[in-house]
Amino acid sequence: MSPKSLGVLTEDCLDRQFMKQVEPAWKKVLTCFQCGTCSVSCPAISLMDYPPRQLWQLLRLGLREQVLHSRTFWLCTQCYACTARCPRGIMTSETMRNLREWAVAENVGVPAAILKLRDTVRATYNILNENNAARLIWSRNLPAAPAQLQTAARANVEVLLFTGCVSSFYPMAYSIPQSLVQILEQAKISYATLGGEEWCCGYPLYGAGMQSEVAALARHNIERVRALAPQNLVATCSSCFHTWKHLYPAHTNGDGAFGFAILHASEFLARLLADKRIKMAKLPWVVTYHDPCDLGRKHGVYDAPRAVIQNIPGITLREMANHRADAMCCGGGGDVAMMETAVTDDIAARRLAQAVSTGAEAIISSCQQCKRTLLGAARKTKTRIKILDVTELVWQAMEK
Ligand code: SF4
Repeated sequence: MSPKSLGVLTEDCLDRQFMKQVEPAWKKVLTCFQCGTCSVSCPAISLMDYPPRQLWQLLRLGLREQVLHSRTFWLCTQCYACTARCPRGIMTSETMRNLREWAVAENVGVPAAILKLRDTVRATYNILNENNAARLIWSRNLPAAPAQLQTAARANVEVLLFTGCVSSFYPMAYSIPQSLVQILEQAKISYATLGGEEWCCGYPLYGAGMQSEVAALARHNIERVRALAPQNLVATCSSCFHTWKHLYPAHTNGDGAFGFAILHASEFLARLLADKRIKMAKLPWVVTYHDPCDLGRKHGVYDAPRAVIQNIPGITLREMANHRADAMCCGGGGDVAMMETAVTDDIAARRLAQAVSTGAEAIISSCQQCKRTLLGAARKTKTRIKILDVTELVWQAMEK
């Protein structure tokens, strides 16, 4: 019996050029044994025209037009749940993103919201079409204006805070950088920001299938931060952190090194606690923790935020049914919220319900986009639960 009659494709069955466009490690797709684990792992599957498993089969069969016109890869939140679980080790999420690259290159079926996003970032250097010079607007209503924030370009500081577009411009997330700078002030740690010289990290465009747009943003941000020579770049946003760690090394003129460490805020806070540079007061809350996909599955940062939470006297951490590598996405990734709000709303409502079922009075996360998405779901479903970033939790619990 031939491999074909067994339903097993060989390399010769495939159009190699086509496969290289959509999957750099394309031979891996050949090894898919159609178990469907990726499909059942996908939080957006109910609204897709083809489940991921079926899309891989169409790819293997070389049915380009069918694949190119599918909505499936535009609805992928890039949560990596499928990638983490695929028994064949196929980079399923990255293949979805590569399909977006292909659709953009062919100019076929690219959602209007994605083209608008590209034009907005090109024109304003942020995703919200705001005046980028106003990047420090989040600091305006702090109880006392921190002296260290008055001069944006301070060199040789311990912390360069990379704020990210969401915390810079969405009022519901202002309190995340506000909390971090107040923690740093209290702990007498030197810090700075890039102010209006911080540009979008580029991850929303990378996720949109526009990888080529990232280079100019990356080079600008790297150059500005290097000029200040901080000890650490600290990002409160999991996506910015992921971009600096995963994408920016390719834009460092070859050596892949920055000259400073890149940390997520939860990692930096865990260090401060371990070194006894900050001290927590009692906070008798019952909380649950939501793992952001960009921090957890993509980087394996699970312990640092939990260590921070469990360092607070009196707090009880109750895990959700799906946590750590098995965590559910909040629905806020992959630019899906700006294309198909219904998909994000559906996923976020399910994650919120999981959190509520723990009996926790607060959801703690480590990403401004997760906070924004879960807050939106709580408002729409009229759910009473506090939703805080780990940075806000620390500032709330800190001995003042
Ligand atoms: Fe194929 Fe992996 Fe999906 Fe299973 S989980 S169908 S092996 S891609």
